Amino acid sequence: MLAQNPAIISLNWKWPKTTITPTRITNNLTSLSVRCSFSSSVSRQPLRIAVLGAGFAGLSVAWNLLLNGSKESHLCVDIYDEAGIGGGASGIAGGLLHPYSPKVKLLWQGAECWEESLSLLTIAEQALLKLVKQGKGEILEDGESVIVRRRGILRPAVNSKNMNIMSENAQNCLANCRIEQIHEDAAQKLVPSLSVPLNMAFYMPEALNVNAQSYLKGLYLACENLANAMSTLGYVNRELNLHQKAVQSVLEFAGDYNAVIICFGARAAFLPELSGKLPLRACRGIIAKLQLGDDIREEYPQYSPSILSDAWLAVHGARHMDLGSTWDWESKNYSRDVTAGEASEAIKVLLPKALSVYPAIEKWTITGTVGGLRGMPPLTANGSLPLLGCVDEYLDGSRSCKYWLFTGLGARGLLYHARLGKLLAQAVLSCNEDLLPGELTSWKHKMYKV
Ligand SMILES: Cc1cc2nc3c(=O)[nH]c(=O)nc-3n(C[C@H](O)[C@H](O)[C@H](O)COP(=O)(O)OP(=O)(O)OC[C@H]3O[C@@H](n4cnc5c(N)ncnc54)[C@H](O)[C@@H]3O)c2cc1C
Repeated sequence: MLAQNPAIISLNWKWPKTTITPTRITNNLTSLSVRCSFSSSVSRQPLRIAVLGAGFAGLSVAWNLLLNGSKESHLCVDIYDEAGIGGGASGIAGGLLHPYSPKVKLLWQGAECWEESLSLLTIAEQALLKLVKQGKGEILEDGESVIVRRRGILRPAVNSKNMNIMSENAQNCLANCRIEQIHEDAAQKLVPSLSVPLNMAFYMPEALNVNAQSYLKGLYLACENLANAMSTLGYVNRELNLHQKAVQSVLEFAGDYNAVIICFGARAAFLPELSGKLPLRACRGIIAKLQLGDDIREEYPQYSPSILSDAWLAVHGARHMDLGSTWDWESKNYSRDVTAGEASEAIKVLLPKALSVYPAIEKWTITGTVGGLRGMPPLTANGSLPLLGCVDEYLDGSRSCKYWLFTGLGARGLLYHARLGKLLAQAVLSCNEDLLPGELTSWKHKMYKV
């Protein structure tokens, strides 16, 4: 059971009648999707939802629950995270955001995901701006957002084999996230001293570099503001609580909540109830923090984009950038801390890659390293897609749509979290798994074959 908490009231909630509807046929296996709906008498009762994890996934889903909850009933969203906001991979992410694959192909639902991410970034920015106006927040650097650096991303081509396909893919770019194919001289105007080995680079002028920590802080603040505003504007109460707590088992929450949404990133697979049941691979990544020493006069130009190659350089200002990232498929270590041995191994891998594309990196000093664990989903015909859906059958054997999963954001958390958080919140609130695109829930049907 949960620790005693004055904010948590025992409610004797009765879950509405469940109906099971036969739906898709997958690989000759009939799958059952679960659907239950709140009857009107029940919907007026307070609804309590636990969101487990305060990374990109958890905060996106919390925002969308608060926004889309019924205007007729009290809604309480409790977020649980042992490390607080951004304590997992989200808090250390490089922050590169665009809707394209390494071969600059538009990703699955790339247009929709891109739009939703831009909207959620704006919402977080506005929340931080409000704080600044109240004299309580960080001062914006030169009037610029503390959350987003809007300078685009440049990808020099490094593999002649993929050039044709990349050129073809670039033609199908989004109008609001363009890909310009440019030659060495144009690329070097954008980033002086850039190395462009094949005399070709792909420039995404609208791509973004997000300061992940500031974004998560802004997004949580936006959730708080929304809950307060909806309560004071005459809607029934919206309540939001953040609990710092290590969760050992999802079933701890069984009695207290109408729905429990697991947003533990790679560590969803470490829960005893889900262990060995998810097609999710953990992959540790290390990022090096770089800084230009005071003795170096030449700064990274103010309007130059970040660089994406075998390694990436995520620019955070004239004298700060991140260099990432390693891919350790053997490690399940989710600690942010990096040992001296691990750091030196990572730098041995990253530095030559960075030098090959941006030789001026040799003037920069490594000031530290951070680590995080990605939850990598399997490759499907639509690419590597996050894992969503009801997971009651793995937890209590029922089909009641009480327990939900939102994981497998892989290396694309920023692109996927906003749209999928919205879809998942809508599915949870209407207790209808069919609102989720089949591509995101198909992993469950494939599991049945095992
Ligand atoms: C090195 C690196 C660089 C990256 N760079 C980028 C990038 O540039 N762009 C991009 O889009 N993506 C990037 N990613 C991927 C991105 O970080 C992830 O896709 C995203 O953070 C996943 O978000 P999440 O909310 O699912 O998981 P997480 O951010 O890991 O959140 C899970 C949360 O759950 C908490 N938690 C877990 N287990 C428990 C438990 N048992 N009890 C209590 N709390 C628990 C954790 O403390 C954590 O806060 C990068 C990842 C890494 C590792």
